[in-house]
Amino acid sequence: MRTLRLILGDQLNLHHSWFQSVSDDVVYLMAEMRQETQYVKHHAQKVLAIFAAMRDFADGLAQMGHRVEYVKISHACSTLTLPQLLEQTAQAIGATEIQIQEPDEWRLDQQIKAWSAQTHLAVTWVNSEHFLTTRDEASQLYASSNQWLMERFYRAMRKKHGVLLDDLGRPVGGDWNLDHENRKAWKGQPAEPRDPRPTHQHEDLWNEIQASGVTTFGEPAETCFRWPLNRTEALSQWKAFVRDALPFFGDYQDAIDTQHQRLFHSLISFALNTKMLHPMELIRDVEAAYHQGSVPLNSAEGYIRQVLGWREYVRGYYWAHMPKLTQANHFDHHTALPSWFWTGKVNMACMQTAINQSLKTAYAHHIQRLMVIGNFSLLAGLDPHALHEWYLGVYIDAFEWVEAPNTLGMSQSATGNSLATKPYVSSAAYLHKMGNSCSSCTYKRQERYGEDACPFNALYWNFFMQHQHLLQSNHRLGMVYRQIERMSEDERTRVKDQAKVWLLRLEEL
Ligand code: FAD
Repeated sequence: MRTLRLILGDQLNLHHSWFQSVSDDVVYLMAEMRQETQYVKHHAQKVLAIFAAMRDFADGLAQMGHRVEYVKISHACSTLTLPQLLEQTAQAIGATEIQIQEPDEWRLDQQIKAWSAQTHLAVTWVNSEHFLTTRDEASQLYASSNQWLMERFYRAMRKKHGVLLDDLGRPVGGDWNLDHENRKAWKGQPAEPRDPRPTHQHEDLWNEIQASGVTTFGEPAETCFRWPLNRTEALSQWKAFVRDALPFFGDYQDAIDTQHQRLFHSLISFALNTKMLHPMELIRDVEAAYHQGSVPLNSAEGYIRQVLGWREYVRGYYWAHMPKLTQANHFDHHTALPSWFWTGKVNMACMQTAINQSLKTAYAHHIQRLMVIGNFSLLAGLDPHALHEWYLGVYIDAFEWVEAPNTLGMSQSATGNSLATKPYVSSAAYLHKMGNSCSSCTYKRQERYGEDACPFNALYWNFFMQHQHLLQSNHRLGMVYRQIERMSEDERTRVKDQAKVWLLRLEEL
């Protein structure tokens, strides 16, 4: 009996048990599919990096002796749907069974389930052997509550996997969460470490992608792009991060700088989300670095919280809330994204840096995504679904299971307060505290009214006034509403008028 095994572009896990033995009766199918390039418009580097990494992975499998059927984007079969491709390949090689690793996106999950319900082929699902939780593990934890809180899940994960615990099962150092030690602004020292990522040139592949009619946005950087394309490269990047940047990750996790886009972040999400690396190997390396004394606890705990906590948590949130999640619009926001999301031509220095950097490199760090671009979008009432599609397209690491809960749940509070306890918004004061963009901005951070005032200021107060009926009862927002109460009627009107000016002039901001 011959078996066909499907490997999706984000399933490049060389350590999967599938690959531990070689058999002539097993054929692996990998395909650069048009259906995957067009469910949203993607950043050029995202398409390039995924296809280049897939080709590298297929070559590696072939060298190990595995049989691989590979469909290039330039091949006619790339335009087939996934079910059509599976049927056609199975027939061509005489397979009667198809094995699928659980996909991470609801869209693919549904497509494969619908097809497997009516095909004559035997379809078997196996685990991707990547995550530390099952799809429904988080939702089981929150079964009896409306409010998802990451902290509860995170502690349960620390206990379950025995991470950063002392002999009595208590958190090392006494606290579970050192978030309050992750908020230093960066003033230029310590220096940002060198970029440890590899450099690639894939002009031929880029030409092939374009000739096949795939449309993208952002800078292709076909002569030089910097994402790891296999496990060896990813590991080398990772080791350099642990040695050079992790010691400072904790202190400067929330810092923003116009000239230094990486600061002390790992830029490992592409390798992680395509499964070149396993989350537990990262967690154990970070833990070991802490125990060896080369990394302080606020860095080790801060990093582990992201991978063991947030990453698994948002995945659980995704599976619990799909398909409603991608349609959610709690604040009923419908404004189209200004064209500068695709050109970077915006005057606000913080937005200009974050958007241009995203278009140029397919990367922005967490605080740029959350407290700059996401913050502005929520204050300006941009359509959360359109924003979700932009985030899903632009970032190198954007796969819906992790992007949608972050964009719609966390950043836009589009699901109400079921993921975050309050909206992640701020005025210019926070941006000034955490970064240096205000000093080079044409807008004045301390002003609320007038042509020169920073748009974040009036938009911030306007947001809370406009959505008072939805937000006032949130006890975490008590201080905001007390401040609004203290404003005179005249002041409230001025805020609203000023916000109206910005909203009418979004394109020119
Ligand atoms: P580091 O800062 O070095 O963090 C280490 C790792 O922790 C990351 O690689 C990532 O795997 C994990 N991590 C950190 N924060 C989160 C989080 N909130 N959710 C899940 N994992 C986290 N992450 C993605 O992987 N794909 C996305 O499409 C994505 N979209 C986002 C959209 C918005 C609006 C926001 C606010 C966040 C988004 N994130 C996303 C989370 C986070 O911003 C990125 O994981 C991180 O910036 C990746 O860069 P890094 O590898 O340098 O991360």
